[in-house]
Amino acid sequence: VPVDLGTLLTSRIRDVPDYPRAGVVFKDITPLLADAAAMTALVEALAALAVRHQVDKVVGLEARGFILAAPVAVRADVGFVPVRKAGKLPGECLSQAYALEYGTAEIEVQRDAFLPGERVLVIDDVLATGGTAEASVELVRRAGAEVAALAVLMELAFLQGRTRLETVLAGAPLEAL
Ligand code: AMP
Repeated sequence: VPVDLGTLLTSRIRDVPDYPRAGVVFKDITPLLADAAAMTALVEALAALAVRHQVDKVVGLEARGFILAAPVAVRADVGFVPVRKAGKLPGECLSQAYALEYGTAEIEVQRDAFLPGERVLVIDDVLATGGTAEASVELVRRAGAEVAALAVLMELAFLQGRTRLETVLAGAPLEAL
């Protein structure tokens, strides 16, 4: 009997209350990363999305998005592109600033990361307010690629990131496993 994917993944995610600060419940994916069966099931499910959406590249968002996106890219037989926090990538980069609860953040991608019109799957671990995903989709598009889909391991639905992303996704699906 195949174990339901959502049940398996959920069972390997640990809630850490009041981390990194009071009032936040941190979704710790390290138990999932350490479980070969769960990790394999996750990578297979994400790779199936990459294949279904016929993407040319898989984009991972620093840092936990990297851990998921790199094996997915290998499994789907496409390239991997990192979106990093500002100042980490060499060469000419495009930057996208976005608002945090306190202050701003900035992410970057290399200017030559994509061929014009390449289809990409953007991957991160957690969708919370959607600010990171929104900025990433805008950044990838500015770099000349087409966002075919956005995939996250987990969506914190009460923060309504999905609603926030409606405009920027412009019909591209948000897949939350
Ligand atoms: P946001 O921009 O608010 O959607 O936040 C998403 C980013 O912050 C992702 O890269 C997540 O890894 C991280 N994040 C936000 N909230 C949590 C949480 N409760 N547990 C784990 N990671 C989180």
